[in-house]
Amino acid sequence: MNKTSRRHFMKLTGAAAGGAFAVRNLRAWSTDRPVSLAIVPPLAVFNYSQVQLLEGPLREQFDHNHDLFLHLDEDALLKPFRQREGLPAPGPDMGGWYDNANDFNPPDNFHAFVPGHSFGQYLSGLARAYAVTGSKPTQEKINRLVRGFAETVEPQGKFYVDYHLPAYTYDKTSCGLIDAYEFAQDPDALDVHWRATQAVLPYLPEKALSRAEQRARPHKNVADTWDETYTLPENFFLAYQRSGNSRYRDLAVRFIEQDYFGPLAAGENVLPGEHAYSHVNALSSAMQSYLVLGDEKYLRAATNGFRLVQAQSYATGGWGPDEAFVVPGRGLLEASLGTTHASFETGCGAYGHFKITRYLLRVTKDSRYGDSMERVLYNTIAGATPILADGTTFYYSDYNYAAKKVHYRDKWPCCSGTFPQLTADYGISSYFKGQDGIYINLFVPSRLSWSQNNTPCTLTQTTRYPTANTTQLDFALSHPETFTAYIRIPEWAGAKSTFSVNRQRGDKELTPGKFLALQRTWKDGDRVDVEFEMPLRLEAVDEQNPNRVALMRGPIALFAVGNIPASIRRDQLMAATRVAPFGEDWLVGTDQGTLTLRPFASVMSENYRLYQTVEG
Ligand SMILES: [Zn+2]
Repeated sequence: MNKTSRRHFMKLTGAAAGGAFAVRNLRAWSTDRPVSLAIVPPLAVFNYSQVQLLEGPLREQFDHNHDLFLHLDEDALLKPFRQREGLPAPGPDMGGWYDNANDFNPPDNFHAFVPGHSFGQYLSGLARAYAVTGSKPTQEKINRLVRGFAETVEPQGKFYVDYHLPAYTYDKTSCGLIDAYEFAQDPDALDVHWRATQAVLPYLPEKALSRAEQRARPHKNVADTWDETYTLPENFFLAYQRSGNSRYRDLAVRFIEQDYFGPLAAGENVLPGEHAYSHVNALSSAMQSYLVLGDEKYLRAATNGFRLVQAQSYATGGWGPDEAFVVPGRGLLEASLGTTHASFETGCGAYGHFKITRYLLRVTKDSRYGDSMERVLYNTIAGATPILADGTTFYYSDYNYAAKKVHYRDKWPCCSGTFPQLTADYGISSYFKGQDGIYINLFVPSRLSWSQNNTPCTLTQTTRYPTANTTQLDFALSHPETFTAYIRIPEWAGAKSTFSVNRQRGDKELTPGKFLALQRTWKDGDRVDVEFEMPLRLEAVDEQNPNRVALMRGPIALFAVGNIPASIRRDQLMAATRVAPFGEDWLVGTDQGTLTLRPFASVMSENYRLYQTVEG
């Protein structure tokens, strides 16, 4: 390692480890791997163990997913891998997409679509949950699953023979194994990962293929044209960083989809018609390409790509009706409200959205990526119904004029894999570590423990945001320490937003869309309160349909429920009042009576509508 890369490496690991609280992950993080990043982002993620969610809806989601996957039958999880290798395969079938069977027949029957596809994501979700909680039973389950999986992996194995989406499933398996190593210190995971990589290589094309390119090649089944080789570089680059094995770097470079990133970097909109989630997920591969290789083209591709996604997002922050991007400028988002109930692929979409906004926020320090993250958080995934033990899963958010929350047709779909990964990531998405202090990104009940200039510090955030418009930050330090606490001030925040330090009203101006920088010598017992003015506003679904609007309050979209009048006036919506001071429901007086609106997370089985038709 040369001097420069060594310095980069030290900066990277130092920032990531975050000091004294990183004990659990010390081994993995302190391994002196001969890897350097070309770009070290100014903001680092904390270790999973450093952020603990406190009681609240997000903690409930995390606990539910952790508990559910901790208790899944291990023989059932390993069954498709054993079956395809011709090994004894005891235990029940998982069901749905996960099974190994011969009746997959799109579009009518998705049973056995991608056998074992989400195994790696469940492993990853457990590894991250272990890193958060230190739960021994979770680590032991990870160890057993890695060992059980290892018995089915042969470099010349049969798993991928006649397998429809080899890159898709391998990418998830890869993520699970490198996470089992990194976050749960599984001793075999990296070795198994290398064998799993050798097993899939004969089944991968020479480069990343778009879906159009796959359609143009000979194929036996339409599902053979749905593979996602263009998402591979992110995990290959991470495997390279975690293992030090440069062969993963070479593989990552091989699968960078130049035909996608090149035009995006030049500002060309190549999204229309493309599969939505996988192409947002691919933007994270652009970010890893930028970090490892240092070519600014990939950062431009990611920022432009994300901007184009946002330009065709719903008021909830969700995107991709029928899992595809639309042609802009034709009112097609509005058109989707009458034609589909598959408005946003919620589990995967939110996971991919969190991932890319985390990368972009860390690199650019632009707080508006945090705004986008919280919009997707509260309006989509926070309202997803829990995964059931039999694999019944929430999949699509429905923005149809006649919408309802329903479970997905098939058990154990993709969104059952990303959901536990995402809920484990809530903590590390809430705070970031900068050169001169900490960044407070999400306003969630939580406790951050970190080391500032070797002083152990704790920040406890108490809040009922966004139901409440306030958050309270309490600092605990063993002795006074000077640093800056950066607090995200959302772009929608009204002029009456305020903050106070130790109950003294702050004299700094709050700038919506920026971080508020509070630099001081912090001492034990210091307290910061922030109050956000959350003005009501109306957001049109697209420019071509200014009279189809969603009522927004702060980061929250309000969904009309019950008997919804065909038409409402703008001034009536903007005069919405709250039912109770800290309640979720809002009332709007209309010409046809009183209409109730509530956030997505409060919608249960009732009919609801995101976009109202307004006059005037
Ligand atoms: Zn999905």
